[in-house]
Amino acid sequence: MTQNIPTHPPIADLADRLARAQEAVRAVGANALLVTPGPDLRYLTGYDAVPLERLTCLMLMAEGDHVMMVPRLEVEAAKASPIGELGLIVAFWDETDNPYRRVARLLPDRGWVGLDNHMWAEKVLHFRDAMPEVIQGLAGVVLEDLRMRKSADEVDALRRAGAAIDAVHEQVPQWLRAGRTEREVARDISEAIIAVGHTRVDFVIVASGPNGASPHHEVSDRVIEVGDPVVVDIGGTMPDGYCSDETRTYAVGSAPVDFVEYYEVLQTAQEAACQHVRPGVSAESIDAVARSIIAEAGYGDLFIHRTGHGIGLETHEEPYIVAGNDEPIAPGMAFSIEPGIYREGVHGARIEDIVVCTEAGFERVNHRPRDLIIT
Ligand code: ZN
Ligand code: ZN
Repeated sequence: MTQNIPTHPPIADLADRLARAQEAVRAVGANALLVTPGPDLRYLTGYDAVPLERLTCLMLMAEGDHVMMVPRLEVEAAKASPIGELGLIVAFWDETDNPYRRVARLLPDRGWVGLDNHMWAEKVLHFRDAMPEVIQGLAGVVLEDLRMRKSADEVDALRRAGAAIDAVHEQVPQWLRAGRTEREVARDISEAIIAVGHTRVDFVIVASGPNGASPHHEVSDRVIEVGDPVVVDIGGTMPDGYCSDETRTYAVGSAPVDFVEYYEVLQTAQEAACQHVRPGVSAESIDAVARSIIAEAGYGDLFIHRTGHGIGLETHEEPYIVAGNDEPIAPGMAFSIEPGIYREGVHGARIEDIVVCTEAGFERVNHRPRDLIIT
C-alpha cells in the first residue's frame, strides 16, 4: 500500500499555489513574504529544506520574479527540489556575506513584509536590523487562507495518510495485552507507523487506565491490566509532508460499566459532530454539537478541550474547531473531530477522525470502527 507515494505535489499545483499567494500578497499590500524552511515553504514550493542557522529564504514578491535565497552550499539541493522545475530564481550568499542585507537590497525600503509564522526569532531580528524602516507582519495572514482550503491533490494526500494510520490501528488490538507496559506497546506502534509508509513518527499516545484521563499523556512504564480502557492517539508524516492523526479507545479483556456508559455518549457526540459538517457551518458550531450532547448526558465538565484542529502539512493548523471561531467551513477544509471524556484518576476516552468538508457535506479519511474495541 505504500508504493509510489510522491514526495511533492505536481509542479502545476505548486505553480498555482505560488500564483494565488502572489495575488494575496498584492491584495494585502505587502512588498513580499519571506518564508524560511518549514511547512509554508513546503506548501509553496515543495522544497523540504532543513531549518538551520544559515538563512534559506523564499522571497515571494508582490511584483516581479520570486527569489529563493540560499547559502552557496545549498544551491544544488534547492535546484534539485521542485524549485528547479518551477523556474524560480536561485540566488546565493557566501559564508562571509550578510544574507539579511542581501535580501533587503532586493526589496523596497518602506512598506511591510510578511515573515513566516514559525521563523526563528534570531532571523526575525536580523531582518529588522537589515530593514529598519520596513514593518514586519505575519505571512500567516496571507497563507492561512490558502493552506486551509486543500486542493484535490492535497485531499488525496490526506486520504493516503488516513489509510496508513488506519493500517496501524488495525494492528493495535494484537499488541494491547495485560502485562505489557504502555512503552512496549508504543514501540510496536512506532515501528508500524514507519512500516506502513510514514517517514516520521510524530506522536504515540498509549494512555491506559487512569492515564487515559490525561489527554496529552504520552507513554509510561505502567503495566496494562485486565479491564483497562486504553486511549491510543497516533500520527506521523508521510513522504509528501502530509500528516496523519487518529484516536481509538480500546479496552483490555473487558470494560468497566461506568466507562461503557460514557463511551456510548462520546461515540454519539463524535458521530453527530461529523454529520454536522457541510459548507457554511461555522467551526464553533461543530464544537457546539459535540459539546451539547456530552453536556446533556451530564459529562460536560469532563470534556476539557476543543473538538478539533485543522491538519495538512502540520498536525495542528487552521481551522481550529473551538468556541469563538466563527470561520465558515468551506469545501477542502480538513480537520479533526475528536471529542473526549476524561474522569480524572479513573479512565478516559477519545474518538478522533480527520474529516474533509466536501461540496455535499463531509468525507472521513479514517475508517477504523468506532465502537469500543475489546482486545
Ligand atoms: Zn490525535
Ligand atoms: Zn488531533
